[in-house]
Amino acid sequence: MTDLLTTDFTDTPYWWEAAPLTEVSSSTLAPAYDVVVVGSGYTGLRAALTLARAGRSVTVLDKERPGYGASRRNAGFIGRTLKKAYIDLKAAKGTAHATAIYRDLTVAFESTFAFIEEEGIECHAVRCGRLIAATSPAHHALLERELAGMKADLGLPYTMLPRERLREEMASDLYDGGAVIPDLGSLHPGLYHHGLMTRALAAGVAIVGNCEVTAIEPSAGQGARFRVTTAVGQTRARDVVIATNGYTTANLPWHARRVIPFVGYMAATEPLPPALLQKQLPHRRTVIDANLDIDFFRPAPDSPRLLFGGATANGLQDPAAIAALLHGRLRRALPDLADVRLSHVWTGQCAGTFDMMPHIGCHDGIWHGMGYNFAGVPMGSFFGLKIAQRILGQPEGACAFEQAPFPTLPFYRGNPWFLPLAMRYFAWKDARLAQRRPATPA
Ligand SMILES: Cc1cc2nc3c(=O)[nH]c(=O)nc-3n(C[C@H](O)[C@H](O)[C@H](O)COP(=O)(O)OP(=O)(O)OC[C@H]3O[C@@H](n4cnc5c(N)ncnc54)[C@H](O)[C@@H]3O)c2cc1C
Repeated sequence: MTDLLTTDFTDTPYWWEAAPLTEVSSSTLAPAYDVVVVGSGYTGLRAALTLARAGRSVTVLDKERPGYGASRRNAGFIGRTLKKAYIDLKAAKGTAHATAIYRDLTVAFESTFAFIEEEGIECHAVRCGRLIAATSPAHHALLERELAGMKADLGLPYTMLPRERLREEMASDLYDGGAVIPDLGSLHPGLYHHGLMTRALAAGVAIVGNCEVTAIEPSAGQGARFRVTTAVGQTRARDVVIATNGYTTANLPWHARRVIPFVGYMAATEPLPPALLQKQLPHRRTVIDANLDIDFFRPAPDSPRLLFGGATANGLQDPAAIAALLHGRLRRALPDLADVRLSHVWTGQCAGTFDMMPHIGCHDGIWHGMGYNFAGVPMGSFFGLKIAQRILGQPEGACAFEQAPFPTLPFYRGNPWFLPLAMRYFAWKDARLAQRRPATPA
């Protein structure tokens, strides 16, 4: 077991090496703000930055140090798809709804790149392309159907890759080929978050860490509609934004009842000889497999390491046990790396939803953006912007996602006891699909 880990092994995110968490907190709150934002990830900071630049007084409150959530822990893939596949959404809700949702995803994707460029945030944002690796011939056929549907209706590009050409993209024989989406991207999530945070601070946002919000109640008078109680005292606000995603606490009960928190796992290898790394992913694309329960791989943007993850919601907590599990996934996909050691293993909280869709909206006068189902890099940035535009009364704040009700289930209070069952169901569905022979064209 110890042979798997470097001597300087740590269970903190690799991204924190370049973007360590800081305490930008003041321990006191002003008596009132125009807007209180709960949660200091991409969603909260993008909303706060937009509002502050429009002249609003804004504070961002976080239970932990700012950036402690998934925004400095994720894989940094920038895509424009959802857990809910386009063809499934189209079958369930019709073409007009599905295309409106997926067009907004494209806007989220493009506007994230545009924002990073306009702001000059140095976070290794690149359009490196993505390989989606098929886990069986049936997955390959399903992937082709999905991508063909998206190309026909939305004009989105892709190239299918047969099994015999997989090694052009990845030093692996595990997969039945896949598809390359040439323009999808990646970034360094820690540096992106750091860039957002420094710009929010420069715009006058008060970012307060170690400040859990414990209650939000209606309040009368002086333009403040809400009284916000926190671990360091009370304040009042005209508007409140909940941007807590997979970290939503039970004292935000309406929101906690609607998100399903689950743990994502990631690891970094020790620095690799450049030629060995280059051989693994020759085009430096991101890689994700086509399963419901995904494995994913990418080169680090700032050092010769491979970063990867998977085995979502497996229940493990011990870093050494997580390292052993993830190393097994690494060896299986990229056998050349069987002897490399891991320098970092970390976890982060994601948020699923009962309809597998992200949600933005306003309930009882309180705004929310959450439930990103692993797509929060572009979607969190996009929803933060949209919420701010809504608060400012700007018509461009409208988006296709706000029309759907945010579902929950009877008796669900935010404790996802059913997750192990759900993951087993996903594994069963993946295995069942893998056994199916793809339909041959007539
Ligand atoms: C391992 C992993 C890999 C991922 N990979 C990708 C990827 O490649 N691409 C992608 O698009 N997405 C990915 N995601 C998802 C993405 O990281 C998230 O969807 C996104 O960061 C959510 O941002 P956020 O601002 O909404 O929330 P977060 O960044 O999670 O921040 C929420 C914050 O709310 C705070 N909070 C909670 N309750 C309270 C309270 N009561 N009072 C005060 N503060 C509170 C928390 O402390 C936390 O800091 C991944 C996630 C994980 C965990």
